Amino acid sequence: MVLEEYHLIGGMTITEEITLPGFKSDVHAFGYQLANMSPVPNELNLVNYGFELIYPEVSFSHIFPHGRSISMYRSLDKTMKSIQNFSTRDALTWHRLFTEYMAERDKIASSINSPPIDLTKQLEKGLEESVGNSAKEFRRQFQSMRSWCEENFESDEAKVVFGTFAAFVGLSPDDAGGGELCHLFASIIQDKGNNVVKGGFVNLPNALAKYIESHGGSILTNSRVTKILIENNRAIGVSLSNGKNILVRKIVVSSTDPSTLVLKLIGEDYVDSYVVDSMKKYEWGDSIFGIYLALKERLKYNSNPLVGESSQIHISPPTLEYFSKIFYECMSGIIPDNPLSIMSNDSIMDPSRVSSPSNERKHLVKFLILSVPYDIKVYNTDNNENNRILVGSISRITIAIKLLNRLQTSTFQILRMQSQRKWHTLQ
Ligand SMILES: Cc1cc2nc3c(=O)[nH]c(=O)nc-3n(C[C@H](O)[C@H](O)[C@H](O)COP(=O)(O)OP(=O)(O)OC[C@H]3O[C@@H](n4cnc5c(N)ncnc54)[C@H](O)[C@@H]3O)c2cc1C
Repeated sequence: MVLEEYHLIGGMTITEEITLPGFKSDVHAFGYQLANMSPVPNELNLVNYGFELIYPEVSFSHIFPHGRSISMYRSLDKTMKSIQNFSTRDALTWHRLFTEYMAERDKIASSINSPPIDLTKQLEKGLEESVGNSAKEFRRQFQSMRSWCEENFESDEAKVVFGTFAAFVGLSPDDAGGGELCHLFASIIQDKGNNVVKGGFVNLPNALAKYIESHGGSILTNSRVTKILIENNRAIGVSLSNGKNILVRKIVVSSTDPSTLVLKLIGEDYVDSYVVDSMKKYEWGDSIFGIYLALKERLKYNSNPLVGESSQIHISPPTLEYFSKIFYECMSGIIPDNPLSIMSNDSIMDPSRVSSPSNERKHLVKFLILSVPYDIKVYNTDNNENNRILVGSISRITIAIKLLNRLQTSTFQILRMQSQRKWHTLQ
């Protein structure tokens, strides 16, 4: 049995008509990327339950303010040609880095699909093999994005194209582990593509739900779990917000965030004090702000027209300092002047996302602004909750207007912004 508090299943892979009827937006996740490494869809034969992937030719493009761009294609040769417009050495470096990944691919896939290994054990194992290799491995795992980019690439554009992936998971240029993450993320996309789930990302959880139901399981939406029931140090069931208790025969599995799980659902009495203390110190990363646009016509680009055929478009200046600045601003609670934006080309990749009563072809895109402070401190001078919400909304509108001004396009028909599942409309 699956219990979901929202009225639909999917969580951060939900697809909803949040702009206009007939326009299906992926509210959060859009690109089927690291998921390509999972054997689950094949093992469960999810194609038989409505799960279908679209494989775009151009996985993503990174546009710079000078109007030029770099694209990653499914074909390694084409990606290299695109990088070569900025540096032949960087194109060859990408070939080498990707080849290194391919040599390790099976090991990487198996580690992604297994429980994490204890770091101490990993180091001990490395030391047994050879001190030199172990130190090299240790450095590779903890190298920052900046250090990795500077070490491997000479053009600012290539550094930023690959470095952006650290920002995807909230790592600044100088955070440990950013370099390895960039290498892995970009290589998986080069290898498997930046694919799109036909009809919306929600068709993946929907297929899983159909699989569960066809095997006798059930899915209950509008069912909020408030407590995990524990007896003799064993989870025996859950309590729901409507007062109902559900007992289980085997196990309770949770996919809430770890702090809610430990502090609220299980409760401090049942967890090691070290874990409780860690959860009390749990730090939330920066926010992501979404803008969803239903369009009368497709967007036009001044740069290479192929950019418009990309599954995703990344937009930033070609400097690593730009990333340092937005992370500094976010950590200080300041709204970045020039936030990092990732755009997904929903309807170009998947025309079934838009059904319009007239036969005119309409369009749908999404912008995710990755660099928004979790707590906007600068304007937040008092603790009045209404003021906090108002300041939050105004700040979000400011970000949207900044971005739209930068795009300089007149094709926007309607813009809706998400704020705590309430929708605001700007005409
Ligand atoms: C803006 C954004 C963009 C993203 N883009 C991508 C992308 O392009 N590609 C990609 O691969 N990944 C992307 N991700 C990440 C991806 O969406 C998540 O990794 C994935 O959804 C995590 O799945 P999950 O099941 O762990 O958690 P969730 O998807 O969060 O699911 C948890 C579910 O539990 C429910 N729940 C929580 N508490 C309770 C409770 N007490 N009782 C009952 N139900 C409860 C929630 O409502 C939710 O439905 C993105 C994430 C965000 C936020």
